[in-house]
Amino acid sequence: MAEEEKKSLNFLEQIVEEDLQSGKHGGRVLTRFPPEPNGYLHIGHAKSICLNFGLAAKYGGQTNLRFDDTNPEKEETEYVDSIKADVRWLGFEWAGEELYASNYFESLYQFAVTLIKKGLAYVDDQTSEQIASQKGNPNFPGEDSPYRYRTVEENLDLFSRMRAGEFGDGAKVLRAKIDMAHPNMHMRDPLMYRIKHAPHHRTGDTWCIYPMYDFAHGQSDSIEEITHSVCTLEFDVHRPLYEWFIEKLGIYPSHQYEFARLNLTHTVMSKRKLLQLVNEGVVNGWDDPRMPTISALRRRGFTPASIRNFCEKIGVAKRDNLIDVGVLDYCVREDLNKLATRVMAVLDPIKVVITNYPTDEVEELQVENNPEDENSGSRTVPFSREIYIEKDDFMEVPMKKFFRLGPGLMVRLKGAYIIKCDDFVKDEFGNITELHCSYIPESRSGSDTSGINVKGTIHWVSIQHAVKAEVRVYDRLLILEDASQVGDDFKKFINPDSLTVIPEVFVEPSLKEAKVGTNYQFMRKGYFCLDPDATAEHLVFNRTVGLKDTWVKEKSK
Ligand code: ATP
Ligand code: MG
Repeated sequence: MAEEEKKSLNFLEQIVEEDLQSGKHGGRVLTRFPPEPNGYLHIGHAKSICLNFGLAAKYGGQTNLRFDDTNPEKEETEYVDSIKADVRWLGFEWAGEELYASNYFESLYQFAVTLIKKGLAYVDDQTSEQIASQKGNPNFPGEDSPYRYRTVEENLDLFSRMRAGEFGDGAKVLRAKIDMAHPNMHMRDPLMYRIKHAPHHRTGDTWCIYPMYDFAHGQSDSIEEITHSVCTLEFDVHRPLYEWFIEKLGIYPSHQYEFARLNLTHTVMSKRKLLQLVNEGVVNGWDDPRMPTISALRRRGFTPASIRNFCEKIGVAKRDNLIDVGVLDYCVREDLNKLATRVMAVLDPIKVVITNYPTDEVEELQVENNPEDENSGSRTVPFSREIYIEKDDFMEVPMKKFFRLGPGLMVRLKGAYIIKCDDFVKDEFGNITELHCSYIPESRSGSDTSGINVKGTIHWVSIQHAVKAEVRVYDRLLILEDASQVGDDFKKFINPDSLTVIPEVFVEPSLKEAKVGTNYQFMRKGYFCLDPDATAEHLVFNRTVGLKDTWVKEKSK
């Protein structure tokens, strides 16, 4: 292959291409996405999903969805269902049925028996504290367990009695017999099995011993004949053990490759920490739109394409880095610009009376749905004598270059007429409560013969037709940029303004038909979508993202 072409491949694509050329794995590509069903997927998982499914698809291969369900206490079917829904929503389909590490409990048990028979595994009766105290540290060798030299027969007997439930939790473990002086701590006789009398979400009470991650993951890859097992960098120190088990068992030689995990600014990205936010009521559930979970992003109005584009844009690195969450906002803005229906909603209203417009007249004006999409058509929007506009589209003493309304100033109402502000009304506190304007009848959009040119166009809603709605505006979850610096203290940095509820805004009547899952641009205000909390009587819209990146500006204030 030409050098030029090779450079544009990421390092995993290069590996796959080399393997395909050399005929390794018989020209097959089979990757897997292996979530533990102990929480909802987050945007970091989306990166892993796009990478695993994308890599296989690019080379005509497939991807298994395998639940790493070896930890009975933390796992639930609710999580399994949400993970399947999220992977599909992102636009990917796994090979065949979804798989479970727990499908392989019997095979894994037999693998362990094989290692015992080879003198490569033993039952240890010590407590976890004792075992930890013998581990040594990277500079000092550990010590051998007093149980390390049990006979094969004794180990086989004890291991089968562990399985039979003769011993209590923690009474015994099965360990690999490798090297207590190995420079890699993971190779110092790592645990393979522990006793846990806990029902499992799929296998029920069948098992009371469960394999550790290191003795389940690689072997499951091997059973499925995975060709490229891609995981995050922190597992590179586990790779020698992954290879040791496969080699000693003589099973299918899957290979593990590591890439840098995604870290995003202003959020946390571990299921354990996200679960804390849910359990402690800091947020309203896993799909609270402030969360970095896929379900939250979906609820907030992100599209699958925007998330896939984001994962593509940030690329695949071998070194950990921190991505500005603004990049994610950029990607959703870019996608929504193409597909969102433009509508009018006034978030902070002031009343305008168009004094020369007939009192009872209502005009149904045609307004384009999306100028970026010529197939999007148009809809009608009612216009009448009394409308709302945004308060800040009027200035009593207009600044230079303020091309909106002020005493004597003219502006165009989107899809309607040019109006001129003749007068305004103040209440006893000096607040402006009402504007009196006149309209230019010849200036109607689409048939404007007025000859008048105005620079500004503003949005509006007809008061008698407007529909009330609640709007929820979201901001960064944490005020802290890099949460990796503070560990479990991240909750001290929750942004107190991460959610702003505007209880009453006025939207154009077409939004009575708004559906969950449809994206709108509230003109000049940002992208919005209907929240599942909405009812026919009470519309609720989430702001997906503003039209421009205001965060950078805010910070430098
Ligand atoms: P968490 O700490 O959030 O629970 P995890 O790694 O324990 O994450 P798993 O369910 O075990 O979660 O992960 C499934 C897959 O997703 C793994 O291959 C893992 O490496 C990958 N993954 C998890 N977090 C990220 C991330 N931030 N960036 C990229 N990949 C990730
Ligand atoms: Mg995990």
